[in-house]
Amino acid sequence: MKTVNYDNLAENSIKELPLDKETALSILTSKDIELISLINATFKVRKEYFGKTISIHIINNIQNGYCPEDCKYCAQSKDSSADIDQYTMKSDEDIVKEAKAAYEKGAFRYCMVSSGITPNPDRIEHIANVIRKIKSLYNIEVCISAGILDKEKLSILKDAGADRINHNINTSESLYPNICTTHKYSDRLRTISLAKEIGLQVCSGIIIGMGETAEDIIEMALTLNKMRVESIPVNFFIPIEGTRIKYISLLDPEYCLRVLCLFRLLNPKADIRIAAGRELHLREMEVLSFYIANSLFLDGYLNTKGSKNNKTYQMIIDAGFTLNSDFSLDELIKDEPQFLKDHSEEFSNTIKK
Ligand code: SF4
Repeated sequence: MKTVNYDNLAENSIKELPLDKETALSILTSKDIELISLINATFKVRKEYFGKTISIHIINNIQNGYCPEDCKYCAQSKDSSADIDQYTMKSDEDIVKEAKAAYEKGAFRYCMVSSGITPNPDRIEHIANVIRKIKSLYNIEVCISAGILDKEKLSILKDAGADRINHNINTSESLYPNICTTHKYSDRLRTISLAKEIGLQVCSGIIIGMGETAEDIIEMALTLNKMRVESIPVNFFIPIEGTRIKYISLLDPEYCLRVLCLFRLLNPKADIRIAAGRELHLREMEVLSFYIANSLFLDGYLNTKGSKNNKTYQMIIDAGFTLNSDFSLDELIKDEPQFLKDHSEEFSNTIKK
């Protein structure tokens, strides 16, 4: 392996110069690239564009389940027998109430996700009205994930005030047929291109841990770079009983951090978000991800719980990062006595023989 100059790695990324394939592969696979030096180089890039701020995103499945698609990893797919609550769209009142709750938990962005491959025109108008209501009430960015969309539907959402749309690529193009057969990778890329064409910001994420190779991961990072997406949630696969991807194994936290570094170095200006599975796969190394990513999901994921919010707030405080929110972290940790109690029960009890 050729020697890596960590300063050059950071400077070239900041200047958005290409990263050669050999170095990209080494970042993921070679212990000759020291993790801590790699994180330090990546931190310089993160700091250049995002300082030491963290943006919280809170996700709300406004419609859950009943999906006719066959995405193997998804608990809402027609082929899944996962034990989840299924419902058609929540009431406007509930969605707006949940937007308020997200705002008050320090969220910079509220992400509404509707299952299914594409909403009909009435549904799009309905979602657009909900977006208008939320934007008129709270100082919060809004992102909507509503499947495959044409230019007209995207324009309606944009005109209603959507700040971003989400449409995940999930994995690499070559692996996609193993993950989903009811729609094509190109359908997903088209929605992203159309959104960019009409001037909407795009969030497009990936899932690590579904049998992809290091080459697949590099391909995903380069695809998102080429499409100039503004936001990349990096999910680490959470096995849900009843979905068609069986439990593979726990991912190695160091590997997860290397993946995050690669996404940051190849997409220096994008919001890199630690997303689903951060607790399960990064484990005790999670705090190191703050030096790479500038954003995280709080309050759980679509069909699985995350860590307690106070634990995440405390981790941000302890690591010396600040929140991109109308609320301070001190204001957000309201039930500190309970937080301390949980911890003292775990760590401070005397040992009795
Ligand atoms: S990922 Fe989306 S399209 Fe695929 S099965 Fe789940 S809800 Fe349906």
